[in-house]
Amino acid sequence: MTIARSAAIIGGGIGGLTLANALIRSGLSVSLYERASHYTPTSGAALGLQPNGQIPLAYIGFKDSIQKLVHPFYHWQLIDEHGKVRSTSPRLGEYGQRFGYYVGGAIRAELVDMLKAPLEQNQCLHYSHKVIDLQQDAHGVTLSFENHHEQKPVRVDLVIGADGIHSTVVKKIFSATEPPIYSKENIFYGMIDNIDEQTSIGPIAAQKNTLTQCFSSGEFLCYRAGNQGQFMWAATYPSDTPPLTSSDAEWTHTNNQRELNRFLTLFPSTHPVHQCAAVTDQQRLLHFGLFYRKHRSDGWHRGRICLLGDACHATLPYAGQGANMAIEDAITLTSCLEKHQFQIEPALDEYYNKRFARTKRVVDISRYMGLFFHSQNSLLHVIRQSLYPKLMNSNAMIKIAEKELFENCPVPMEYKKIKT
Ligand SMILES: Cc1cc2nc3c(=O)[nH]c(=O)nc-3n(C[C@H](O)[C@H](O)[C@H](O)COP(=O)(O)OP(=O)(O)OC[C@H]3O[C@@H](n4cnc5c(N)ncnc54)[C@H](O)[C@@H]3O)c2cc1C
Repeated sequence: MTIARSAAIIGGGIGGLTLANALIRSGLSVSLYERASHYTPTSGAALGLQPNGQIPLAYIGFKDSIQKLVHPFYHWQLIDEHGKVRSTSPRLGEYGQRFGYYVGGAIRAELVDMLKAPLEQNQCLHYSHKVIDLQQDAHGVTLSFENHHEQKPVRVDLVIGADGIHSTVVKKIFSATEPPIYSKENIFYGMIDNIDEQTSIGPIAAQKNTLTQCFSSGEFLCYRAGNQGQFMWAATYPSDTPPLTSSDAEWTHTNNQRELNRFLTLFPSTHPVHQCAAVTDQQRLLHFGLFYRKHRSDGWHRGRICLLGDACHATLPYAGQGANMAIEDAITLTSCLEKHQFQIEPALDEYYNKRFARTKRVVDISRYMGLFFHSQNSLLHVIRQSLYPKLMNSNAMIKIAEKELFENCPVPMEYKKIKT
C-alpha cells in the first residue's frame, strides 16, 4: 500500500496555493515550488470569482477574507457598440442572495496574498524554484530544480503538477502530450486603478456591482474588481496568430502599439473600449493569445504524480471558470486523499473520476461560447443581441446557475446554504 505522508506541489498559481492550504489542514507535510521570484505571472490582473470558487475557499477557512475581497455583482447589463444599455438583469444579485455568495470580481494579487499568508507561516512556500525534472520509483519521487548548484533535489511521496497550461509535469508523465490549442482569438486586458477618478469613462461601464458585456467582433466585458476602485476591461478579437511571448509566459505586457491600434479600429469610436484603452497605463495592459487544452481521457496521474488546474484542463476564459475549477480540483483531491487514508492510487483514481466530466463540460462550453461570441453569422448575431438577454433574465438561468455553481460544487452539502 502506497501512502502519502509528504507532498510537493509544483506551481504557485491559484490552484497550487489552494491545494497547499487544503492539504496542510488535512495534516500532510507540504512544500510548494514556484518558479517566479515572488510574484505569479497572472497576478497583475483580476478574475471573476464565482460561488463555486468561493464556497470551497470558505470551507478551508477563508470565509471572512473571501467576502471582503470580492466585489459582488448585483446586475448584469448588455450594452451596444455605442455604449448604450440594451438590456439589464437583476438575476446575478438574486443568485447571490440564494447562495450566500455572489458572482463577483477579485484582484488576483489579493487572492494570492490571502492564500499565501498561512503557507508563509508554515514555511512551505519556495519561490525561485523552477522544477525541471521528476523521477519516480517504488518509494517516492525526486524533484530537480533549474538552479541545481544551489537547490538540492527533493524527495517526496506525492507530487501534484499545478504548473499551468504549459505544464512541465504533464510532459514528464505523458510522453505523447499535444500542445495547447490556439483558438485564433486574442485578448487585450486592462486594469484601471481609481476608476471613480477617471471621468472620461462613462458612468454606464463604470457602474458599481455590475457586470457589463458587449458583443461585436468578439466579447467586450468590464467590471469592478476588489473593493478599492479597481476596474478591469477586456476585449477578445479574431486573429490568425497569437502575440509573441517567451516560451513559458502566458501573459505579456503590450509592447505592440501597432496591434493595439489595429484592434481599436474594430470598434466604432463611441465604443467604451476606446475610453478604457486611453486611460489604461501601459504597464497595466496585457495582451495574449487564447489557448485551451484538449481534455485528457487517459487519467490525470501516473503512479505518484498527478495534475491539477490548467495543467490538465486549461480552458478559454469565456465562462470565467478556469481558476474556479482549479480551486474545486484542490478541494476534491484533498477529500479523496482523506477518504482513502492517503493511499495514493485509489485517491488519485477517484479524484480523476470525480473531476473529468465537470471540467470537460466547462472546457467545451467555454469553447462554444467563444465561437458564439465571435461568429459573424447574422442569425447568431440576432440570437446574441435578443435571446441572450432573455436567457439572462429567465428562470432557466437560475436553474443552471444553481446546478453548476452550487449543487455540483464539491463541498459537503451540509456546508452549503441556500434559501428556497
Ligand atoms: C484572459 C483570461 C481571463 C481569465 N479570467 C478568469 C476568470 O474570470 N475566472 C476564472 O475562474 N478563471 C479565469 N481565467 C483562467 C484562470 O486564470 C486559470 O484557469 C487559472 O489561473 C489556473 O490556475 P492554475 O493554478 O492551474 O495555473 P496558473 O495560474 O497558470 O499557475 C501555474 C503556476 O505554475 C508556475 N510554474 C510553471 N511551471 C513551473 C515549473 N516548472 N516549476 C515551478 N513553477 C512553475 C507558474 O509560474 C504559475 O505561477 C482566465 C484566464 C485568462 C487567460
